[in-house]
Amino acid sequence: MPDRIEKLCNERGLRMTGQRRTIARVLSESEDHPDVEQVYRRAVEIDSNISISTVYRTVRLFEEANILHRHDFGDGRARYEETPEEHHDHLIDVQTGQVIEFRNDEIERLQERIAAELGYELVDHRLELYARKKKAGP
Ligand SMILES: [Zn+2]
Repeated sequence: MPDRIEKLCNERGLRMTGQRRTIARVLSESEDHPDVEQVYRRAVEIDSNISISTVYRTVRLFEEANILHRHDFGDGRARYEETPEEHHDHLIDVQTGQVIEFRNDEIERLQERIAAELGYELVDHRLELYARKKKAGP
């Protein structure tokens, strides 16, 4: 949803400059968990004065304010997405690097049950499935 990041920034009292606004817009409009390089490439298309270090700083600022989630999907690159309104997990295609979002109520319940059995109340979790696409059957 465009502009959601900007709204969150305002709520958290982050001063919004034009460049931060542009970076926020790029992140809001991205649905593919981009890394900083990708965010930078999209941002300079809108404002050619934006530098990669500004993108790094801004992304870190948004992350610290819990406006963004940072992920490591096993390729050593930090990837970002807008903190989702509804929780979801990720499946990573190990051949193409494609990231697929999913949600499964059975898994959600199972995780709560595991935590409860260990005497805990679940407050958060991250689940990543690394998978290879099945070949089509004969
Ligand atoms: Zn996601």
